[in-house]
Amino acid sequence: MNAEILAVGTELLMGQIANTNAQYISQRLNSIGMNVYYHSVVGDNPKRLKAVLELALSRSDIVIITGGLGPTQDDLTKETVAEILGDKLILHEESLQKIEDYFKRLNRPMVKNNVKQAYLPESCIIVKNNNGTAPGCIMEKDEKIVVMLPGPPSEMKPMLDDFVIPHIAKNSPEKIVSKYLRVFGIGESLLEEKLINLINNQSNVTIATYAKEGEVTVRITTKNDNEVKALKALSAVEDEILEILGDSVYSDEDKELCQVVADMLIKKQITIAFAESCTGGLISSVITDVPGISAVFDRAVVTYSNKSKVESLGVKQETLDKFGAVSRETAIEMAEGVKKLAGTDLGLSITGIAGPDGGTEEKPVGLIYIALASKKGTECKELKLRGNRTKVRNYATLNSFDMIRRLVNEL
Ligand code: ATP
Ligand code: MG
Repeated sequence: MNAEILAVGTELLMGQIANTNAQYISQRLNSIGMNVYYHSVVGDNPKRLKAVLELALSRSDIVIITGGLGPTQDDLTKETVAEILGDKLILHEESLQKIEDYFKRLNRPMVKNNVKQAYLPESCIIVKNNNGTAPGCIMEKDEKIVVMLPGPPSEMKPMLDDFVIPHIAKNSPEKIVSKYLRVFGIGESLLEEKLINLINNQSNVTIATYAKEGEVTVRITTKNDNEVKALKALSAVEDEILEILGDSVYSDEDKELCQVVADMLIKKQITIAFAESCTGGLISSVITDVPGISAVFDRAVVTYSNKSKVESLGVKQETLDKFGAVSRETAIEMAEGVKKLAGTDLGLSITGIAGPDGGTEEKPVGLIYIALASKKGTECKELKLRGNRTKVRNYATLNSFDMIRRLVNEL
């Protein structure tokens, strides 16, 4: 089955807002193995809406429309779709009640126009909207599916995720199963090169890679009318990929790297403290996003100046004088210093030049040292990162987590 996304709204055509709905819906449809062949945008104009809709229905099995479900006169998506599919709009009492309740909760008077939103095609399946007034709906006719959802992303997204996507997946004759492997430390092009044979020979299992800042996700998807067969095919390919990528795969459950690291530390009861220079607290900020981390995270010391590195972490003045603050030697003393200070199992430090200024030929912007002290000794990694200040800091943070992950794996 293939799908098409149609965004309705003159402000999209005027360039006042970007069509983020199409991007979001595409990602979701892709995740269930549905091919999306077209995105289109049309203004609030019944004639043109009708024309694109007819075209969409002529070439796609599923058309997902967003926008134009509002209470005003220019909101005419439902009317147009109903007309094309030969249906009529009728008042849906339960939806009207919900809209009335919505206004009561907000303590705002309901405008008469809002009643219009409770008119829905007679034959439709209603998609409840818990974050706004306009209900969405799904119409099925002659093997075609038309989904109508409101324009505001905060309303559209939960309706899509909680109802529409499961509905489409359930009613698809094929069972679509996907698995996500998250990879760190291999760039997207190298990753593709490593997997090229598998990618070129993919038949019933498709492999796709997506790059996000510093990490790559490999999605493997398969369709089969028999779910057990689908899962079997998937796991065979997964094994082959794991064989090739080894321990660069940090999650087979689509988990964030910091979450994986936090889970490992908590499970093994390994305590940790950070000494941060160029990341200025970013690492501890990211790790404390994970609930339950207090069981293992003791503290982070942000030591930006040389003075603070000496005073708080016991870094030797002569080390700083001889090698500089951004050096392997300083990083190691910082890591060992914070481990001793906090009395934790691990001490991780990071020092580097995030830019845009401060780089020299010998020590360019993007030069980072990460040291990790444990009972096995202290290891230190030198990185030469590219990109702006934000990128360098984010990538350094991810590298820190990856270093912890690899060490904790062996403890
Ligand atoms: P409302 O009840 O708010 O009128 P609606 O279903 O009629 O909802 P529109 O009037 O088309 O939707 O759009 C309402 C708002 O939703 C827009 O002003 C915009 O902020 C957002 N929006 C609409 N379409 C999109 C889109 N394709 N991508 C991102 N945001 C969108
Ligand atoms: Mg509107």
